[in-house]
Amino acid sequence: MGLVKLLKNAEVFSPKPVGKKDILIVGNKIAVVESDISVNVPDLDIINASGLIAIPGLIDTHVHFLGGGGEGGFSTRTPELDPRDCIVNGVTTLVGCLGTDGITRSLDSLYAKAKALEECGLTTFIYTGSYRVPPVTFTGSVQRDIVLIDKVIGVGEIAISDHRSSQPTYEEILRIVADARVGGMLSGKPGIVNFHVGAGRKGIEYLFKIAEETEILIQHLYPTHMSRSKKLFEEGLRFCELGGVIDITALQPFEKEENFGPVDALVMAYENGLIDAVTISSDAQGSLPVFDDKGNMVGFKVGSVAALLHTVKLAVEKGLPQELILKTVTLTPAKVLRLKYKGKIEKGYDADIVLMEDFHIKWVISKGKFLMVEGNVVEPFKVM
Ligand code: ZN
Repeated sequence: MGLVKLLKNAEVFSPKPVGKKDILIVGNKIAVVESDISVNVPDLDIINASGLIAIPGLIDTHVHFLGGGGEGGFSTRTPELDPRDCIVNGVTTLVGCLGTDGITRSLDSLYAKAKALEECGLTTFIYTGSYRVPPVTFTGSVQRDIVLIDKVIGVGEIAISDHRSSQPTYEEILRIVADARVGGMLSGKPGIVNFHVGAGRKGIEYLFKIAEETEILIQHLYPTHMSRSKKLFEEGLRFCELGGVIDITALQPFEKEENFGPVDALVMAYENGLIDAVTISSDAQGSLPVFDDKGNMVGFKVGSVAALLHTVKLAVEKGLPQELILKTVTLTPAKVLRLKYKGKIEKGYDADIVLMEDFHIKWVISKGKFLMVEGNVVEPFKVM
């Protein structure tokens, strides 16, 4: 395909609905979003998008690029991310993290995987560190990692309130957040700390303490798995009221929402007028243990980035406004990650666009390249 592409007659959700529009892509950018665009350039590719909805490429802020798991022994390690999974599920921007295992999975490999995904046409970033405190790093310091390693935008996932955490003290957590903040300032990056919040009774107590007792801005604190219980989510909404953003883990297509889950959480956030302070991530390639009736672990499943759009669809089916739910996987994560040119279909933004029909993805464009054409994935190493 050429450098100039024109998508005709798409119903555009930017994620705000702007009606039926044509979208002109030049290189890797969106050049114009208007009705009835006509251009006269050689090698123009025109795509008829009538009957299709155009949304910004999804942004997933928590993915185990290298796989995760291992909590049930080596045979429970999960496989690494296949770029095709991202493409078929409309995810064009991702942040990778290590997880529980910072021993057999390394930051060097995570970096290489992020580069590999980027070569396949996606946009990627990584967190330095793993569950453990003090965090594993590239350079010996969280701050140096953020300043000196291009892909590192913050630290994570640091485990708190979890039996698998390193039982970090408040002071240890505070120092990491302070280092992330200054590292972010020096490098023009978000400098966020992504917290894995477990089921422990302390919840996000430390984060409230940082927000209330120090000068550190609340936007550096980015807790995830916040819909694991109603109680934790209520705490999360209080955190949002203070100006914070929380992340919830999407429901996998093979999972059922039991007592409380991400869709309930989205409804609750919406009813409290706080949906703009919530993001959804997939936790893809992490392991999801399966228990028998007696609570014994009998196996595990592997999370997929498919969970993102699946959860959006379920929330929309529950009657929540599509544009607000779409924000949780486009514009709001773009703001958390301080990505100025992602999360919207607007002039000047990166040409990351998903065209779909009733949540069935037909076309995926990432930085102006077509990664899916009429439902078929373009071979990642030969992007058009
Ligand atoms: Zn986690």
